[in-house]
Amino acid sequence: MDNHQRQILRSLPAMDELLENSWIFTYVEKIGRETVKKILNELMSEIRQEVIEGDLNEISMSYIRKRAENLLQVRHKKSLKKVVNATGVVVHTNLGRSCLATEAVESVKEVASGYSTLEYNLDEGKRGQRNEHIEWLLCQVTGAEAALVVNNNAGAVILCLAALARDREVVVSRGELVEIGGSFRVPEIMAFSGAKLVEVGSTNRTHLRDYVGAVTDNTAMFLKVHPSNFKIEGFSSVVPREDLAGYAHNNGLVFMEDLGSGILVDVNLLGLAGEPTVSECIRSGVDVVTFSGDKMLGGPQIGAIVGKKAIIDKLRTFPLLRALRVDKMTLGAFETTLRLYLKGQWVKIPTLSMLSLTMEQMKKHASSLARRLRKVIPGAEIGVIHVEDAVGGGAFPATVLPGYGVAVRNHPCGSSGRIQSCLRSGDIPVITGAGDDSVVIHVRTLIGGDDQLIVNAFSSLICKGDE
Ligand SMILES: *Cc1c(COP(=O)(O)O)cnc(C)c1O
Repeated sequence: MDNHQRQILRSLPAMDELLENSWIFTYVEKIGRETVKKILNELMSEIRQEVIEGDLNEISMSYIRKRAENLLQVRHKKSLKKVVNATGVVVHTNLGRSCLATEAVESVKEVASGYSTLEYNLDEGKRGQRNEHIEWLLCQVTGAEAALVVNNNAGAVILCLAALARDREVVVSRGELVEIGGSFRVPEIMAFSGAKLVEVGSTNRTHLRDYVGAVTDNTAMFLKVHPSNFKIEGFSSVVPREDLAGYAHNNGLVFMEDLGSGILVDVNLLGLAGEPTVSECIRSGVDVVTFSGDKMLGGPQIGAIVGKKAIIDKLRTFPLLRALRVDKMTLGAFETTLRLYLKGQWVKIPTLSMLSLTMEQMKKHASSLARRLRKVIPGAEIGVIHVEDAVGGGAFPATVLPGYGVAVRNHPCGSSGRIQSCLRSGDIPVITGAGDDSVVIHVRTLIGGDDQLIVNAFSSLICKGDE
Protein backbone atom coordinates (compact mmCIF):
# COMPACT_ATOMS: atom_id res chain seq x y z
CA MET A 1 0.00 0.00 0.00
CA ASP A 2 1.41 3.36 -0.95
CA ASN A 3 0.97 6.72 0.72
CA HIS A 4 -1.80 7.78 -1.58
CA GLN A 5 -3.82 4.70 -0.68
CA ARG A 6 -3.25 5.27 3.02
CA GLN A 7 -4.43 8.81 2.62
CA ILE A 8 -7.62 7.74 0.89
CA LEU A 9 -8.35 5.21 3.62
CA ARG A 10 -7.83 7.84 6.32
CA SER A 11 -10.16 10.24 4.54
CA LEU A 12 -13.10 7.81 4.46
CA PRO A 13 -15.98 9.04 6.62
CA ALA A 14 -16.71 7.32 9.94
CA MET A 15 -20.07 5.60 10.42
CA ASP A 16 -21.48 8.33 12.68
CA GLU A 17 -20.52 10.89 10.13
CA LEU A 18 -22.21 8.93 7.34
CA LEU A 19 -25.40 8.51 9.33
CA GLU A 20 -25.71 12.26 9.77
CA ASN A 21 -26.19 12.85 6.05
CA SER A 22 -29.73 13.98 5.33
CA TRP A 23 -30.07 11.66 2.33
CA ILE A 24 -29.76 8.73 4.74
CA PHE A 25 -32.80 9.76 6.78
CA THR A 26 -35.47 8.41 4.41
CA TYR A 27 -33.81 5.00 4.47
CA VAL A 28 -33.50 5.01 8.26
CA GLU A 29 -37.22 5.69 8.35
CA LYS A 30 -38.04 2.84 5.96
CA ILE A 31 -35.76 0.02 7.05
CA GLY A 32 -34.41 1.12 10.43
CA ARG A 33 -31.11 2.56 11.68
CA GLU A 34 -29.50 -0.78 12.44
CA THR A 35 -30.15 -2.17 8.96
CA VAL A 36 -28.85 0.99 7.31
CA LYS A 37 -25.76 0.79 9.49
CA LYS A 38 -25.14 -2.80 8.52
CA ILE A 39 -25.49 -2.05 4.81
CA LEU A 40 -23.16 0.96 5.08
CA ASN A 41 -20.64 -1.06 7.05
CA GLU A 42 -20.51 -3.70 4.36
CA LEU A 43 -20.20 -1.04 1.69
CA MET A 44 -17.34 0.72 3.49
CA SER A 45 -15.36 -2.49 3.91
CA GLU A 46 -15.94 -3.21 0.23
CA ILE A 47 -14.64 0.26 -0.65
CA ARG A 48 -11.64 -0.14 1.66
CA GLN A 49 -10.80 -3.42 -0.01
CA GLU A 50 -11.03 -1.84 -3.45
CA VAL A 51 -8.67 0.94 -2.35
CA ILE A 52 -6.18 -1.58 -1.00
CA GLU A 53 -6.32 -3.57 -4.22
CA GLY A 54 -5.73 -0.41 -6.20
CA ASP A 55 -9.11 -0.45 -7.98
CA LEU A 56 -10.18 2.90 -6.51
CA ASN A 57 -7.90 5.93 -6.63
CA GLU A 58 -10.25 8.71 -5.69
CA ILE A 59 -13.27 8.82 -3.42
CA SER A 60 -15.72 11.64 -2.90
CA MET A 61 -18.78 11.82 -0.66
CA SER A 62 -20.99 11.90 -3.73
CA TYR A 63 -19.37 8.68 -4.94
CA ILE A 64 -20.07 6.98 -1.61
CA ARG A 65 -23.59 8.32 -1.65
CA LYS A 66 -24.25 6.92 -5.11
CA ARG A 67 -23.09 3.45 -4.15
CA ALA A 68 -24.88 3.56 -0.80
CA GLU A 69 -28.14 4.65 -2.39
CA ASN A 70 -27.92 1.89 -4.98
CA LEU A 71 -27.76 -0.64 -2.17
CA LEU A 72 -30.29 1.03 0.10
CA GLN A 73 -32.82 1.51 -2.67
CA VAL A 74 -32.89 -2.18 -3.46
CA ARG A 75 -33.64 -2.93 0.19
CA HIS A 76 -36.23 -0.28 0.88
CA LYS A 77 -38.47 -1.17 -2.04
CA LYS A 78 -40.96 -3.98 -1.79
CA SER A 79 -39.48 -7.06 -3.40
CA LEU A 80 -42.45 -9.31 -4.20
CA LYS A 81 -44.74 -7.01 -6.13
CA LYS A 82 -47.03 -6.67 -9.09
CA VAL A 83 -45.65 -6.68 -12.61
CA VAL A 84 -47.37 -6.38 -15.97
CA ASN A 85 -47.00 -9.59 -17.95
CA ALA A 86 -46.78 -8.50 -21.58
CA THR A 87 -44.98 -11.67 -22.69
CA GLY A 88 -48.00 -13.61 -23.95
CA VAL A 89 -46.98 -16.63 -21.86
CA VAL A 90 -50.15 -17.34 -19.91
CA VAL A 91 -48.90 -19.67 -17.17
CA HIS A 92 -45.61 -17.84 -16.67
CA THR A 93 -43.87 -19.64 -13.81
CA ASN A 94 -41.41 -16.80 -13.13
CA LEU A 95 -44.22 -14.26 -13.01
CA GLY A 96 -46.42 -16.23 -10.64
CA ARG A 97 -48.28 -18.63 -12.97
CA SER A 98 -52.03 -18.06 -12.67
CA CYS A 99 -53.89 -14.88 -11.68
CA LEU A 100 -56.80 -15.71 -9.40
CA ALA A 101 -60.41 -15.00 -10.30
CA THR A 102 -61.93 -12.05 -8.41
CA GLU A 103 -64.13 -14.44 -6.47
CA ALA A 104 -61.09 -16.44 -5.36
CA VAL A 105 -59.30 -13.29 -4.21
CA GLU A 106 -62.36 -12.41 -2.12
CA SER A 107 -62.16 -15.80 -0.41
CA VAL A 108 -58.49 -15.25 0.38
CA LYS A 109 -59.33 -11.88 1.98
CA GLU A 110 -62.16 -13.40 3.97
CA VAL A 111 -60.19 -16.26 5.50
CA ALA A 112 -56.97 -14.29 5.88
CA SER A 113 -58.43 -11.35 7.74
CA GLY A 114 -60.51 -13.27 10.24
CA TYR A 115 -61.28 -16.65 11.77
CA SER A 116 -62.74 -19.40 9.64
CA THR A 117 -64.03 -22.99 9.59
CA LEU A 118 -60.58 -24.19 8.51
CA GLU A 119 -60.63 -27.22 10.82
CA TYR A 120 -63.98 -26.80 12.47
CA ASN A 121 -67.12 -28.81 12.01
CA LEU A 122 -70.05 -26.45 12.57
CA ASP A 123 -72.67 -29.21 12.89
CA GLU A 124 -70.89 -30.91 15.71
CA GLY A 125 -69.16 -27.90 17.19
CA LYS A 126 -65.82 -29.65 17.21
CA ARG A 127 -62.66 -30.30 15.23
CA GLY A 128 -63.06 -30.88 11.50
CA GLN A 129 -60.75 -31.65 8.57
CA ARG A 130 -59.25 -28.97 6.34
CA ASN A 131 -59.33 -31.32 3.37
CA GLU A 132 -63.13 -31.59 3.59
CA HIS A 133 -63.61 -28.13 2.13
CA ILE A 134 -62.38 -29.26 -1.24
CA GLU A 135 -62.58 -33.06 -1.39
CA TRP A 136 -66.13 -33.39 -2.66
CA LEU A 137 -65.59 -30.51 -5.08
CA LEU A 138 -62.50 -32.15 -6.58
CA CYS A 139 -64.43 -35.41 -6.91
CA GLN A 140 -67.28 -33.55 -8.57
CA VAL A 141 -65.12 -31.87 -11.21
CA THR A 142 -62.86 -34.86 -11.91
CA GLY A 143 -65.14 -37.85 -11.44
CA ALA A 144 -62.72 -39.34 -8.89
CA GLU A 145 -63.81 -41.27 -5.77
CA ALA A 146 -61.60 -39.37 -3.36
CA ALA A 147 -59.20 -36.45 -3.24
CA LEU A 148 -56.50 -34.81 -1.15
CA VAL A 149 -54.46 -31.64 -1.51
CA VAL A 150 -50.90 -30.70 -0.56
CA ASN A 151 -48.69 -27.65 -1.13
CA ASN A 152 -47.85 -28.25 -4.77
CA ASN A 153 -47.71 -30.97 -7.36
CA ALA A 154 -44.08 -31.81 -6.61
CA GLY A 155 -45.19 -32.52 -3.04
CA ALA A 156 -48.12 -34.56 -4.31
CA VAL A 157 -45.82 -36.79 -6.35
CA ILE A 158 -43.38 -37.28 -3.48
CA LEU A 159 -46.18 -38.10 -1.06
CA CYS A 160 -47.71 -40.67 -3.41
CA LEU A 161 -44.39 -42.35 -4.17
CA ALA A 162 -43.31 -42.43 -0.53
CA ALA A 163 -46.64 -43.72 0.72
CA LEU A 164 -47.38 -46.18 -2.07
CA ALA A 165 -44.02 -47.39 -3.34
CA ARG A 166 -41.34 -46.89 -0.72
CA ASP A 167 -38.64 -49.60 -0.96
CA ARG A 168 -40.46 -51.02 -3.95
CA GLU A 169 -40.13 -50.67 -7.71
CA VAL A 170 -41.84 -48.12 -9.91
CA VAL A 171 -41.83 -48.66 -13.65
CA VAL A 172 -41.48 -45.51 -15.81
CA SER A 173 -40.99 -45.09 -19.54
CA ARG A 174 -37.63 -43.57 -20.55
CA GLY A 175 -39.56 -41.05 -22.64
CA GLU A 176 -41.01 -39.63 -19.44
CA LEU A 177 -37.90 -39.29 -17.28
CA VAL A 178 -38.00 -35.55 -17.58
CA GLU A 179 -36.70 -32.53 -15.78
CA ILE A 180 -39.27 -29.86 -15.12
CA GLY A 181 -37.99 -26.34 -14.63
CA GLY A 182 -34.63 -27.37 -13.26
CA SER A 183 -35.67 -28.46 -9.81
CA PHE A 184 -38.00 -31.35 -10.43
CA ARG A 185 -36.42 -34.41 -11.97
CA VAL A 186 -38.31 -37.68 -11.95
CA PRO A 187 -35.29 -39.87 -11.05
CA GLU A 188 -34.32 -37.58 -8.16
CA ILE A 189 -37.86 -37.28 -6.83
CA MET A 190 -38.08 -41.05 -7.00
CA ALA A 191 -34.83 -41.54 -5.09
CA PHE A 192 -35.88 -39.01 -2.48
CA SER A 193 -39.19 -40.80 -1.96
CA GLY A 194 -37.42 -44.10 -1.37
CA ALA A 195 -38.95 -45.76 -4.43
CA LYS A 196 -36.78 -47.67 -6.85
CA LEU A 197 -36.94 -46.43 -10.42
CA VAL A 198 -37.12 -49.03 -13.15
CA GLU A 199 -36.71 -47.47 -16.58
CA VAL A 200 -38.27 -49.17 -19.58
CA GLY A 201 -38.48 -48.63 -23.32
CA SER A 202 -36.52 -46.02 -25.21
CA THR A 203 -36.74 -42.24 -25.32
CA ASN A 204 -39.10 -42.22 -28.28
CA ARG A 205 -40.97 -45.54 -28.04
CA THR A 206 -42.26 -47.62 -25.19
CA HIS A 207 -44.60 -50.62 -25.50
CA LEU A 208 -46.81 -52.43 -23.01
CA ARG A 209 -44.47 -55.45 -23.26
CA ASP A 210 -41.64 -53.21 -21.96
CA TYR A 211 -43.62 -52.41 -18.84
CA VAL A 212 -44.74 -56.00 -18.37
CA GLY A 213 -41.21 -57.34 -18.83
CA ALA A 214 -40.00 -55.15 -15.97
CA VAL A 215 -42.54 -56.35 -13.40
CA THR A 216 -41.13 -58.33 -10.48
CA ASP A 217 -42.49 -59.46 -7.11
CA ASN A 218 -41.36 -56.12 -5.75
CA THR A 219 -43.10 -53.89 -8.28
CA ALA A 220 -45.55 -51.47 -6.70
CA MET A 221 -46.53 -49.15 -9.46
CA PHE A 222 -46.63 -48.07 -13.09
CA LEU A 223 -46.02 -44.33 -13.23
CA LYS A 224 -46.88 -42.13 -16.17
CA VAL A 225 -45.42 -38.61 -16.18
CA HIS A 226 -46.45 -35.72 -18.36
CA PRO A 227 -43.31 -34.83 -20.32
CA SER A 228 -43.96 -31.13 -19.63
CA ASN A 229 -41.91 -28.71 -21.73
CA PHE A 230 -40.53 -31.53 -23.77
CA LYS A 231 -42.16 -33.10 -26.80
CA ILE A 232 -41.04 -36.09 -28.79
CA GLU A 233 -42.08 -35.77 -32.41
CA GLY A 234 -41.99 -38.21 -35.28
CA PHE A 235 -41.35 -41.93 -34.75
CA SER A 236 -42.70 -42.28 -31.25
CA SER A 237 -45.26 -44.22 -29.30
CA VAL A 238 -46.61 -44.33 -25.78
CA VAL A 239 -48.78 -47.00 -24.25
CA PRO A 240 -52.49 -46.10 -23.98
CA ARG A 241 -53.67 -45.54 -20.40
CA GLU A 242 -56.32 -48.24 -20.76
CA ASP A 243 -53.67 -50.87 -21.50
CA LEU A 244 -51.48 -49.88 -18.57
CA ALA A 245 -54.53 -49.78 -16.29
CA GLY A 246 -55.73 -53.19 -17.49
CA TYR A 247 -52.42 -54.88 -16.76
CA ALA A 248 -51.85 -53.03 -13.48
CA HIS A 249 -55.25 -53.97 -12.10
CA ASN A 250 -54.95 -57.63 -13.03
CA ASN A 251 -51.61 -57.78 -11.28
CA GLY A 252 -52.21 -55.84 -8.10
CA LEU A 253 -50.20 -52.77 -9.14
CA VAL A 254 -51.08 -49.12 -8.70
CA PHE A 255 -51.27 -47.06 -11.89
CA MET A 256 -50.35 -43.46 -11.12
CA GLU A 257 -50.09 -40.43 -13.40
CA ASP A 258 -48.36 -37.12 -12.77
CA LEU A 259 -50.38 -34.97 -15.11
CA GLY A 260 -48.54 -31.72 -14.41
CA SER A 261 -50.95 -29.07 -15.58
CA GLY A 262 -54.35 -30.32 -14.47
CA ILE A 263 -57.01 -29.54 -16.99
CA LEU A 264 -60.64 -29.63 -15.92
CA VAL A 265 -62.39 -28.46 -19.11
CA ASP A 266 -62.36 -30.00 -22.56
CA VAL A 267 -59.35 -28.35 -24.22
CA ASN A 268 -61.23 -28.15 -27.52
CA LEU A 269 -63.28 -25.38 -25.92
CA LEU A 270 -60.03 -23.44 -25.66
CA GLY A 271 -59.05 -24.16 -29.23
CA LEU A 272 -56.38 -26.58 -28.06
CA ALA A 273 -55.96 -30.29 -28.67
CA GLY A 274 -54.02 -33.31 -27.59
CA GLU A 275 -54.02 -33.24 -23.79
CA PRO A 276 -56.51 -35.12 -21.63
CA THR A 277 -58.57 -33.68 -18.82
CA VAL A 278 -58.21 -35.12 -15.34
CA SER A 279 -61.62 -36.84 -15.75
CA GLU A 280 -60.44 -38.52 -18.94
CA CYS A 281 -57.43 -39.95 -17.11
CA ILE A 282 -59.65 -41.23 -14.31
CA ARG A 283 -62.06 -42.76 -16.83
CA SER A 284 -59.19 -44.50 -18.62
CA GLY A 285 -58.44 -46.33 -15.41
CA VAL A 286 -55.63 -44.34 -13.78
CA ASP A 287 -55.80 -45.07 -10.03
CA VAL A 288 -54.28 -41.86 -8.80
CA VAL A 289 -53.69 -38.61 -10.68
CA THR A 290 -51.67 -35.63 -9.41
CA PHE A 291 -51.72 -32.12 -10.84
CA SER A 292 -50.97 -28.46 -10.06
CA GLY A 293 -53.59 -25.95 -8.98
CA ASP A 294 -51.89 -22.94 -10.52
CA LYS A 295 -51.19 -24.09 -14.05
CA MET A 296 -54.05 -24.55 -16.51
CA LEU A 297 -56.52 -24.96 -13.70
CA GLY A 298 -56.07 -21.27 -12.95
CA GLY A 299 -56.13 -21.44 -9.16
CA PRO A 300 -53.59 -21.00 -6.36
CA GLN A 301 -50.41 -23.04 -5.93
CA ILE A 302 -51.59 -26.41 -4.69
CA GLY A 303 -51.01 -30.08 -5.49
CA ALA A 304 -54.15 -32.10 -6.07
CA ILE A 305 -54.25 -35.87 -5.70
CA VAL A 306 -57.40 -37.56 -6.96
CA GLY A 307 -58.30 -41.20 -7.48
CA LYS A 308 -59.47 -44.44 -5.89
CA LYS A 309 -60.67 -44.15 -2.33
CA ALA A 310 -58.55 -47.03 -1.00
CA ILE A 311 -55.40 -45.32 -2.29
CA ILE A 312 -56.24 -41.81 -1.13
CA ASP A 313 -57.08 -43.26 2.31
CA LYS A 314 -53.54 -44.64 2.56
CA LEU A 315 -52.17 -41.16 1.91
CA ARG A 316 -54.37 -39.52 4.52
CA THR A 317 -52.54 -41.15 7.40
CA PHE A 318 -49.02 -40.91 5.98
CA PRO A 319 -46.90 -38.64 8.24
CA LEU A 320 -45.37 -36.64 5.39
CA LEU A 321 -48.83 -35.24 4.64
CA ARG A 322 -48.59 -33.00 7.70
CA ALA A 323 -45.42 -31.39 6.37
CA LEU A 324 -47.11 -30.61 3.07
CA ARG A 325 -50.23 -29.14 4.64
CA VAL A 326 -52.02 -26.45 2.66
CA ASP A 327 -52.52 -22.94 4.05
CA LYS A 328 -56.02 -21.53 4.65
CA MET A 329 -55.63 -18.75 2.08
CA THR A 330 -54.75 -21.30 -0.56
CA LEU A 331 -57.65 -23.53 0.41
CA GLY A 332 -60.03 -20.57 0.24
CA ALA A 333 -58.83 -19.61 -3.21
CA PHE A 334 -58.89 -23.21 -4.40
CA GLU A 335 -62.41 -23.96 -3.14
CA THR A 336 -63.78 -20.85 -4.84
CA THR A 337 -61.96 -21.61 -8.09
CA LEU A 338 -63.37 -25.15 -8.13
CA ARG A 339 -66.85 -23.75 -7.47
CA LEU A 340 -66.53 -21.66 -10.63
CA TYR A 341 -65.95 -24.90 -12.56
CA LEU A 342 -68.91 -26.48 -10.80
CA LYS A 343 -71.14 -23.61 -11.93
CA GLY A 344 -69.76 -23.78 -15.46
CA GLN A 345 -68.31 -20.29 -14.99
CA TRP A 346 -64.72 -21.07 -15.84
CA VAL A 347 -64.51 -18.04 -18.13
CA LYS A 348 -64.21 -16.01 -14.93
CA ILE A 349 -60.84 -17.68 -14.32
CA PRO A 350 -58.18 -15.43 -15.90
CA THR A 351 -55.94 -18.26 -17.10
CA LEU A 352 -58.80 -19.82 -19.03
CA SER A 353 -60.23 -16.58 -20.33
CA MET A 354 -56.77 -15.58 -21.62
CA LEU A 355 -56.53 -18.91 -23.42
CA SER A 356 -59.95 -18.53 -25.00
CA LEU A 357 -59.55 -14.97 -26.32
CA THR A 358 -60.43 -14.63 -30.00
CA MET A 359 -58.12 -13.09 -32.59
CA GLU A 360 -60.64 -10.31 -33.05
CA GLN A 361 -60.69 -9.44 -29.36
CA MET A 362 -56.90 -9.36 -29.20
CA LYS A 363 -56.61 -7.29 -32.39
CA LYS A 364 -59.02 -4.74 -31.02
CA HIS A 365 -57.14 -4.61 -27.74
CA ALA A 366 -53.78 -4.19 -29.49
CA SER A 367 -55.13 -1.44 -31.77
CA SER A 368 -56.47 0.52 -28.85
CA LEU A 369 -53.23 0.19 -26.90
CA ALA A 370 -51.20 1.19 -29.97
CA ARG A 371 -53.29 4.34 -30.38
CA ARG A 372 -52.68 5.31 -26.76
CA LEU A 373 -48.96 4.61 -26.99
CA ARG A 374 -48.54 6.70 -30.15
CA LYS A 375 -49.70 9.70 -28.13
CA VAL A 376 -47.06 9.26 -25.44
CA ILE A 377 -44.08 8.15 -27.55
CA PRO A 378 -43.99 10.64 -30.40
CA GLY A 379 -40.68 9.57 -31.92
CA ALA A 380 -41.22 5.83 -32.17
CA GLU A 381 -42.78 3.58 -34.78
CA ILE A 382 -45.72 1.77 -33.23
CA GLY A 383 -47.66 -0.94 -34.96
CA VAL A 384 -50.05 -3.83 -34.34
CA ILE A 385 -48.46 -7.16 -35.22
CA HIS A 386 -49.17 -10.90 -35.16
CA VAL A 387 -47.38 -12.61 -32.28
CA GLU A 388 -46.89 -16.13 -31.00
CA ASP A 389 -48.14 -16.67 -27.46
CA ALA A 390 -47.77 -19.79 -25.34
CA VAL A 391 -49.75 -21.68 -22.71
CA GLY A 392 -46.71 -22.08 -20.43
CA GLY A 393 -46.39 -24.15 -17.29
CA GLY A 394 -45.27 -27.16 -19.25
CA ALA A 395 -48.62 -27.69 -20.96
CA PHE A 396 -48.97 -27.82 -24.74
CA PRO A 397 -45.24 -27.20 -25.27
CA ALA A 398 -45.46 -27.53 -29.02
CA THR A 399 -48.55 -25.38 -29.43
CA VAL A 400 -48.12 -21.84 -30.64
CA LEU A 401 -51.06 -19.65 -29.72
CA PRO A 402 -51.53 -17.02 -32.40
CA GLY A 403 -52.14 -13.61 -30.86
CA TYR A 404 -51.69 -9.90 -31.34
CA GLY A 405 -49.20 -7.47 -29.94
CA VAL A 406 -48.01 -3.90 -30.15
CA ALA A 407 -44.50 -3.45 -31.52
CA VAL A 408 -42.55 -0.36 -30.49
CA ARG A 409 -39.62 0.29 -32.80
CA ASN A 410 -37.07 3.10 -33.06
CA HIS A 411 -37.77 4.47 -29.63
CA PRO A 412 -35.82 7.72 -29.18
CA CYS A 413 -34.26 6.39 -25.95
CA GLY A 414 -32.37 3.60 -27.62
CA SER A 415 -32.29 -0.07 -28.49
CA SER A 416 -35.14 -2.42 -27.67
CA GLY A 417 -32.98 -4.10 -25.03
CA ARG A 418 -32.47 -0.74 -23.38
CA ILE A 419 -36.20 0.07 -23.46
CA GLN A 420 -37.07 -3.34 -22.03
CA SER A 421 -34.67 -2.80 -19.17
CA CYS A 422 -36.10 0.67 -18.45
CA LEU A 423 -39.62 -0.77 -18.44
CA ARG A 424 -38.49 -3.36 -15.89
CA SER A 425 -37.05 -0.75 -13.58
CA GLY A 426 -40.25 1.27 -13.05
CA ASP A 427 -42.42 1.24 -9.92
CA ILE A 428 -44.67 -1.32 -11.56
CA PRO A 429 -42.35 -3.22 -13.88
CA VAL A 430 -43.57 -4.13 -17.35
CA ILE A 431 -42.12 -7.37 -18.69
CA THR A 432 -42.34 -7.45 -22.48
CA GLY A 433 -41.41 -9.66 -25.36
CA ALA A 434 -38.99 -8.60 -28.07
CA GLY A 435 -38.97 -8.85 -31.84
CA ASP A 436 -36.29 -7.81 -34.27
CA ASP A 437 -35.30 -4.38 -32.99
CA SER A 438 -38.62 -3.85 -31.27
CA VAL A 439 -40.24 -4.13 -27.90
CA VAL A 440 -43.33 -6.29 -28.25
CA ILE A 441 -46.30 -6.05 -25.92
CA HIS A 442 -48.39 -9.19 -26.16
CA VAL A 443 -51.96 -8.25 -25.25
CA ARG A 444 -53.23 -11.76 -24.38
CA THR A 445 -51.77 -11.71 -20.88
CA LEU A 446 -52.72 -8.13 -19.97
CA ILE A 447 -55.30 -7.82 -17.22
CA GLY A 448 -57.56 -4.96 -16.11
CA GLY A 449 -55.64 -1.72 -15.67
CA ASP A 450 -52.48 -2.99 -17.34
CA ASP A 451 -52.96 -0.83 -20.46
CA GLN A 452 -52.86 2.28 -18.30
CA LEU A 453 -49.77 1.00 -16.48
CA ILE A 454 -48.01 0.41 -19.80
CA VAL A 455 -48.93 3.89 -21.02
CA ASN A 456 -47.65 5.30 -17.72
CA ALA A 457 -44.44 3.30 -17.95
CA PHE A 458 -43.73 4.59 -21.45
CA SER A 459 -44.65 8.17 -20.55
CA SER A 460 -42.36 8.23 -17.54
CA LEU A 461 -39.51 6.55 -19.37
CA ILE A 462 -36.62 8.96 -19.24
CA CYS A 463 -33.86 8.71 -21.80
CA LYS A 464 -30.84 8.32 -19.58
CA GLY A 465 -27.33 8.88 -20.83
CA ASP A 466 -25.07 5.91 -21.49
CA GLU A 467 -24.67 3.79 -18.43
C1 LIG B 1 -45.23 -28.51 -13.17
C2 LIG B 1 -45.05 -29.96 -12.99
C3 LIG B 1 -44.69 -30.50 -11.75
C4 LIG B 1 -44.45 -29.63 -10.56
O1 LIG B 1 -45.64 -29.06 -10.12
P1 LIG B 1 -45.63 -27.89 -9.03
O2 LIG B 1 -47.07 -27.61 -8.78
O3 LIG B 1 -44.90 -26.77 -9.65
O4 LIG B 1 -44.94 -28.42 -7.83
C5 LIG B 1 -44.56 -31.85 -11.65
N1 LIG B 1 -44.76 -32.67 -12.71
C6 LIG B 1 -45.11 -32.17 -13.92
C7 LIG B 1 -45.32 -33.12 -15.05
C8 LIG B 1 -45.27 -30.80 -14.12
O5 LIG B 1 -45.61 -30.33 -15.32
